[in-house]
Amino acid sequence: NQSLHALDPEIAAAVDAELHRQQTTLEMIASENFAPVAVMEAQGSVLTNKYAEGYPGRRYYGGCEHVDVAEQIAIDRVKELFGAEYANVQPHSGASANQAALFAIAQPGDTILGLDLAHGGHLTHGMRLNFSGKQFNVVAYHVDSAGLVDMAEVERLAKEHRPKVIIAGWSAYPRQLDFAEFRRIADEVEAYLWVDMAHFAGLVAAGLHPNPVEYADVVTSTTHKTLGGPRGGIILAKQEFAKKLNSSVFPGFQGGPLEHVIAAKAVSFKVAASPEFKERQERTLAGARILAERLLQDDATAAGVSVLSGGTDVHLVLVDLRNSQLDGQQAEDRLHEVGITVNRNAVPNDPRPPMTTSGLRIGTPALATRGFQAEDFSEVADIIAEALLPTFDEAKAESLKARVTALAVKYPLYPEL
Ligand code: PLP
Repeated sequence: NQSLHALDPEIAAAVDAELHRQQTTLEMIASENFAPVAVMEAQGSVLTNKYAEGYPGRRYYGGCEHVDVAEQIAIDRVKELFGAEYANVQPHSGASANQAALFAIAQPGDTILGLDLAHGGHLTHGMRLNFSGKQFNVVAYHVDSAGLVDMAEVERLAKEHRPKVIIAGWSAYPRQLDFAEFRRIADEVEAYLWVDMAHFAGLVAAGLHPNPVEYADVVTSTTHKTLGGPRGGIILAKQEFAKKLNSSVFPGFQGGPLEHVIAAKAVSFKVAASPEFKERQERTLAGARILAERLLQDDATAAGVSVLSGGTDVHLVLVDLRNSQLDGQQAEDRLHEVGITVNRNAVPNDPRPPMTTSGLRIGTPALATRGFQAEDFSEVADIIAEALLPTFDEAKAESLKARVTALAVKYPLYPEL
């Protein structure tokens, strides 16, 4: 039983290099976060060895008495956290949760109505090459010219196509959705309402965002974005969907659950119920607002940089570069050069191809977890703005990089590792 370094130095080196990258750069990919050491400890535990097909108390394997405890705690905690009647903590990922959820409430060939991928939706909401787009009849709604989800279009399309499922949720959208209005429209056409809160679940847990569980038939989420846990998925629902959802996850799509990850999810749900977590989510939101305000100042505007929807209510900002000399790829590369990690992102009606794009998606959850306060977000917002200006050159890159390093040093990440 050798250590990783002794047994496999090549993989150990890659892990060490990744830790160093995370420690020395500023992580601003909106879907990423830093899991607590306790979460990683559970995820790296002996629970990885255990087969446990089935659910707590009803397993197809012996020796499940301890993983049953951990999985039941995860279920109870997440139900309490979001006020849900039912929870399934077994989905291996957000996409797996979505697949199981969709097949539990609809049949292949049924019509589903979701937000267009190019307007901020997710692959699993009906993208052509995804299972959702291949096996269901997809109708997509969009954002309007102000960058807001067009609820009049949602209602019109719902009445015209009578979908079996209406999907509310997003991967790139800077505002809150009107769940009550989605519910009203779903009721009007007798559709199920499925909310995918993968991105904003942490804000919901902290009470800083409307809770979709109050409105939706089924709610899915990832556990690793704003929620800050291990990579994975969950499904919440009204009790009436319990049997169908359980059987859709297992044996429908998955085999043995990842009990080590489920234990880590339980730890992250405990963290998410704490006052410190709420305070962190408040800093996450404040940081995104500070960033949006900085990118709307005159120097940025003059350089053709803008912010979709004119601001943000959540943990991310969508930068609009349609009038900038920089495309999304160049802007992403520039920020990478100074030590800030973001991803390029298509803007609605993007004139550039999907591999280039005319936008950036920039999020604040990981930096808030690192400890960033308002003044630090002001500093990082200024670094980003300056990197996107035409005055950027090699000397500027060096000075911005030094400012990034100062922030990284101010908030040491995983010092215990
Ligand atoms: N749903 C939404 C809204 C997402 O943004 C994502 C991931 O980006 C997912 C689902 C899928 O999660 P995963 O990458 O864990 O499959």
